[in-house]
Amino acid sequence: MIVVMDLRVGAEEIKAVEDMLAEYGYRCHAIYGEERLVLGAVGAQKGEIPPGLETMPGVIDVVRITKPFKLVGREVKIEDTVVETGKIKLGGGFFSVMAGPCAVESMEQLSASARAVRSGGAVGLRGGAFKPRTSPYAFQGLEDVGLQYLRRAREETGLAIVTEVVNPSDVARVADTADIIQIGARNMQNFPLLREVGQLRKPVLLKRGLSATVEEWLMAAEYILSEGNYQVILCERGIRTFETYTRNTLDLSAVVLAKRLSHLPVIVDPSHATGHWHLVKPLALASMAAGADGLLIEVHPEPARALCDGPQSLTPEHFNELMTELGALAPVLGKKLWQGVEESGS
Ligand code: PEP
Ligand code: MN
Repeated sequence: MIVVMDLRVGAEEIKAVEDMLAEYGYRCHAIYGEERLVLGAVGAQKGEIPPGLETMPGVIDVVRITKPFKLVGREVKIEDTVVETGKIKLGGGFFSVMAGPCAVESMEQLSASARAVRSGGAVGLRGGAFKPRTSPYAFQGLEDVGLQYLRRAREETGLAIVTEVVNPSDVARVADTADIIQIGARNMQNFPLLREVGQLRKPVLLKRGLSATVEEWLMAAEYILSEGNYQVILCERGIRTFETYTRNTLDLSAVVLAKRLSHLPVIVDPSHATGHWHLVKPLALASMAAGADGLLIEVHPEPARALCDGPQSLTPEHFNELMTELGALAPVLGKKLWQGVEESGS
């Protein structure tokens, strides 16, 4: 349920309400506004409203949350959540692009990728050190060495680092390097992993599962928020359908729905959604038009030599073209293509 409180009351009155809710088995998540405090009370199995709650000092309103996702939904927080880290700013009209190779392959490859995506206008460098591969015989990533290269690339370019974690026991180690931790599509319902990243206080990029409904995706995000980490970015990366010309089918309606149902920023990964580099630009532009808050794009200095996902990777030249077109489209849509700094005079 949601308990709306008047912030003119003191800390004691707020604590009394929180204590009362705790007695009934609720955990409170506080969202502070200018004049009001919204307590998102979740987790009580019985879902009872404590008698007398509505008349406690400072309580303005008590409302049941109707949706199964509680903290993730717009019922508890109407305004967009803006996730900001390093040069990245997503949500509330800010649109950021994160790009880079599927996997960190070598320092040379990563440096070349980082320089290319930075000069195109990306604010985040995405590259995998731990790769969740379908085949156990495929390249699994450079692991700790890959993390070390990512740290060096951040030093060289100033880009924020986005990288995936696959195993709950690696979360602390990956979080040490990452500015944003990625949970891949295959792990969207790895609940111990979700709970573990929920303990962090840094942003988590949660990809939609291969065959997950919008509700399952939002419930996966709820796991992370319920642990106290409210900085979650939802990422649509295509779903399984009968179509074989594309790797997956980009579900743009899910972007619109997720934005409507949730206050969290929603981004799109048109690279994994399509599997083909020539489909990436049109669908990236369509994603911005559909209301996405950002993009994750695979870029490789030499796609033909990539150890994974070469066919869907843009060359630096194609990435530049895409960024130019996004820059032209953003103002038409009332969005700001975020480059890490406010332009002077704006
Ligand atoms: C990736 O981002 O490189 C990846 C493995 O993507 P997904 O989890 O969407 O398949
Ligand atoms: Mn990939």
